[in-house]
Amino acid sequence: MKLIFLGPPGAGKGTQAEGIADYYGIAHISTGDMLRSHVRQGSPLGLEARGYMERGELVPDGLILKMVEQRITASDCEKGFLFDGFPRTIAQAEALEEICDIDYVVDIDVPFERLVKRITGRRMCPDCGSAFHISDYKESTCQRCGGKLYQREDDKEETVSRRIKEYSAKTEPLIAFYQAKGKLLQVNGDQSRELVAKAIREELGV
Ligand code: AMP
Repeated sequence: MKLIFLGPPGAGKGTQAEGIADYYGIAHISTGDMLRSHVRQGSPLGLEARGYMERGELVPDGLILKMVEQRITASDCEKGFLFDGFPRTIAQAEALEEICDIDYVVDIDVPFERLVKRITGRRMCPDCGSAFHISDYKESTCQRCGGKLYQREDDKEETVSRRIKEYSAKTEPLIAFYQAKGKLLQVNGDQSRELVAKAIREELGV
């Protein structure tokens, strides 16, 4: 099974991707998590990507594609994988077509006016990547693994509007791209995480 989760920043892609990847026993590939790990390690890719990420801009396609092509050769991808945050441009989607055949693209739709609050209230676990929202989780440590929660630098208000603009300009056209290929499944992301999870399973027929 090869899936893509699409949606604006703050739509809940990461949270939902986790559950579905577990269900199918496939790898959850978040290009954002991979990049943040490179930045933390100070790798050459991390050093190149860092400035773009801090400004809320997309990292150049060439860097992302190289990273993804390598990632999907790992042994945990044998049964399939779920891309979360990739592809983000038409060029990335076209390049992906050359390397594998995607089964479905799940688009999690959330009205733009809801996104800023969802993103700025988000707190992340650096150890397991889980996300929590300050409106329904008040602890400072991760519920799953005990890691110390932090706010992503690019989740601060200054950067969020830039990220949403990047999404509208460069990523949203992927909805029509995959619709034209008959691969698009659309889900209302503006409801509780349990209901979003249920809607995704219904769309996937599982
Ligand atoms: P995310 O965690 O998916 O919100 O990604 C965080 C940041 O990483 C984005 O704002 C981009 O700067 C960068 N990024 C992640 N995935 C991609 C991608 N597929 N293409 C370009 N930039 C990406």
